[in-house]
Amino acid sequence: MSSHVSLSWHDKIAVITIDHAPVNAINYAIRAGLIQVLHDATKAPNLRGVVIFAAGKTFMAGSDIREFDAPPRAPLLAEVTATIEAMVVPVVAAIHGTALGGGFEIALGCHYRVASFDAKIGLPEINLGLIPGAGGTQRLPRLIGLERALEWILSGRHVSAPEAREVGAIEEIAEGHLLDTAISAALRIASTGSIRRTSLLALASNNLVAIFDAQRKAMAKKSRGFEAPLAAIDAIEAALKPFDEGMRIESEISNRLKASDQSRALRHLFFGEREVGRIPDIPQDTRLRHLDTIGVIGAGTMGRGIVVACLNAGFQVRWVDRTDELLVRGADAVQQIYQRHIEKKRLSESSVAERLARLSTSAQLESLATVDLVIEAAFEDMKVKQGLFRQLDGVCKPGVILASNTSTLDVNDIAAVTTRPADVLGMHFFSPAHVMRLLEVVRGARTAPYAVATAMSFGKRIGKIAVLSGVCFGFIGNRMFEGYIRESQMLLLEGATPSQVDQALTDFGMAMGPCAVIDLAGVDVSFFTRQGNRANLPNDPRYCAIGDKLHHLGRFGQKTGAGFYQYAEGKAADDRAVHEMICAEAARLGVKQRMITDDEIVARCIYPLIDEGLRILDEGIALRSVDVDVVWVAGYGFPRYRGGPLFHADLLGLRNVINGMERFAKELGNDFGYWTPSPLLATLTAQGKLIKDWKPS
Ligand code: NAD
Repeated sequence: MSSHVSLSWHDKIAVITIDHAPVNAINYAIRAGLIQVLHDATKAPNLRGVVIFAAGKTFMAGSDIREFDAPPRAPLLAEVTATIEAMVVPVVAAIHGTALGGGFEIALGCHYRVASFDAKIGLPEINLGLIPGAGGTQRLPRLIGLERALEWILSGRHVSAPEAREVGAIEEIAEGHLLDTAISAALRIASTGSIRRTSLLALASNNLVAIFDAQRKAMAKKSRGFEAPLAAIDAIEAALKPFDEGMRIESEISNRLKASDQSRALRHLFFGEREVGRIPDIPQDTRLRHLDTIGVIGAGTMGRGIVVACLNAGFQVRWVDRTDELLVRGADAVQQIYQRHIEKKRLSESSVAERLARLSTSAQLESLATVDLVIEAAFEDMKVKQGLFRQLDGVCKPGVILASNTSTLDVNDIAAVTTRPADVLGMHFFSPAHVMRLLEVVRGARTAPYAVATAMSFGKRIGKIAVLSGVCFGFIGNRMFEGYIRESQMLLLEGATPSQVDQALTDFGMAMGPCAVIDLAGVDVSFFTRQGNRANLPNDPRYCAIGDKLHHLGRFGQKTGAGFYQYAEGKAADDRAVHEMICAEAARLGVKQRMITDDEIVARCIYPLIDEGLRILDEGIALRSVDVDVVWVAGYGFPRYRGGPLFHADLLGLRNVINGMERFAKELGNDFGYWTPSPLLATLTAQGKLIKDWKPS
C-alpha cells in the first residue's frame, strides 16, 4: 500500500485517508494507492460505503505539478475518478481546506460530497494553461449546469462551501465533525440503496449555440493570446456528447495543453513567483524587523499608491510632505481611490473608514520618529533624497528600515549619507503603486540581510511580488526597458508608425505598445531619465531622437493630450504632425525610410530585452533568470503565456536570437554595439545550453 494512502474501518465504512503533506498534492503514489485501497475495500465482506478524507490542513489541493513535465504514468487520475464512480457502494468525499483541480475532480467522481463550512473548491487549471483532465469538464456541467461550469472553469476561481452547496456542487455542509458527518452520509445512502453517479446525470441544454458563442467571444477578448480558455470551452462543449466520448475529447485536449509551450511558460511563472522570495545567501528563518507603522514621504503619484497599499494591508501609516496643503491634496486623492472601491462594491464604507483612521499626516519629518519602516517617494533628485536620508538618520529610532522608491538613483550613494547604511535599501514600486503587483527590492552594497528579508516580507504583506535586484541604473526592469525603447523609436525613424510598432507588440502579447507606454508614463519622465543616464548612453544622434523631439515640442503624452499619439476623449489616434516630424527627423539624420514588417518590429524590440536580461544575470543584478521573467511579466506587461523574456528566449532558441542579432548588425550597422551579443548569450549558445539551467559560477 502507498505510504500516502491508508485504509481504516468505521462501522463498515472504509475510510481512505490521503496523507501527503503539506497540501496532499496528488501524485503517482496517491493515484496508485487509491486504486489499490478501493480494491482492498471491495474485498471486505461487509463493506457498506467509502469515505475519502485527507489528513492535515486540507483535502487534496491539486495534482503535483512537477509530474507534468514527465511522461504520464498509469494509473491516470481519470482512471481513479472512474474507479471511484463505478464503486457499487456509496463513496463520499469529506472535504476540508481546499479541494482544487485534481482534488475536486476526485470529489466529483464520488457519489456525495460533504464539506466543512470554510472549505473551498474549484478547478483552477486554467491559470496554468491547462484544463481539468480527469473528468472535471464533463462531470461539473452535469452537476451544476453548463453556464455555471463554464464560469467556474474559465475563471478558475475558488468557490466557498456555502455557494457550492447552493448550486449543488456539494451536497452537504458538515454542522459538526466532518468525518462523522461523511460516515453518517455514507451509511444513510447505503440504506436507501440509491447511488447518484455524476456521469449519468442528464445535461440541460437550452440556448447552447448562443452560450458557447458568447463565451468564445468574451474569452478571445479577455484572454487574448491564451490557448487554454478556448480549449476549455471546447472540452466543456464535449460534455453534450455521451460521457465516454466527452472524456476522450477532454483527455486529448488536456494532453495537448500539458505539452504546450504556453502551459510550460505558465508553470515556469507559477514556480518562479514563489522562487523569487528565496534569497540564497539569506536564510529563510532570518529574524525580521517588526513592522507596525510605516512612514511614507511624498504625497505625489507614487506616495498616494504606496499609502493605499499599506493601509489595505492593515498598517498604521504616517504620511509626510513639505506642506499641509500638499498632504490635503494627497489625502483627497486617496479618498477618491477608496470612493471608487465603494462605488464598485469592492469595499464597504465602514472598512474604508477603518483604513483611513489608520492614516495620519504631517509636514514635519520628526513625526516619523517612531515608525518602523520609511518609504521615501520624494522627487527623483539625489540632493533631495540625500538631504532627506540625512535628516531621517537623525530623526528615526534605531533599527528602522529606510527605503527609497528611486527609479534610477544609486542606493549606495543614498545610504552613504547615513550612519546606518545596513538599514538602507531601495523599494521600487510601479505606478499605480496600489495596483501594480511588482516591487523591486534593491540591495545596496552595505544593506544587511535582515533589512532585505524584512523588505521582501513586507512586499508580500502588501500583496506584491517582491523581486530582489542589485544596484545599477534602472535596476532589472527599467534597465532592460532601455534597449526595447531604443529600438521602438529607431523603427519609427526607419518608417514604422507608432501604431504599427504598438500593434505588432500587442499582437505579440504585450499589454501595451512602447509608444503608448511612454505617453502614459510621460514623454518628459522618459526624457529626464535619459538625461540622468547620459553617461551610459551611446553618442548616437538617432538614439531616442523622436522622444527627445516630442519633449521639445511639449508633447508630454496623455497628460498634455498629445505625445506619440493625439488624444481626444481618452482615445489615442495617430497624428499627422508626428508623422511629418518623424519624416523630417529621418531626413535630418540621414535615415532611409522603408516598409517594415511586424516580425521585424517584434524581433528588433525583443532581442535587446533578452540580451540585456542576460547581462543583468551575468552581473549578478538578478539572482536567477526567473527573477528577470517575473519582473517583466508582473511589472511591464510581458505576456504571461510566454513565460517572460528569458523563458521566451529559450523557446526561440538562443542560436536563432544570435543569428537574428547578427543579421541586424549586418543590415543596420553596429557602430554602437547594439547588436553585439552579451558574453553570456554567446557562451550559452556556443555550449548549446538553456538560460533556465544557468547557475552563477
Ligand atoms: P511626484 O512629483 O508626483 O511627487 C513627489 C512628492 O514628493 C511631491 O508631493 C513633493 O512635494 C514631495 N517632496 C519632494 N521633496 C520633499 C521633501 N524634501 N520632503 C517631503 N516631501 C517632499 O513624484 P512621483 O512620481 O510620486 O515620484 C516619486 C519617486 O518615485 C521618485 O523618486 C520617482 O523616480 C519614483 N518613481 C516614480 C514612478 C512613477 O511612475 N511616477 C515609478 C516608480 C518610481
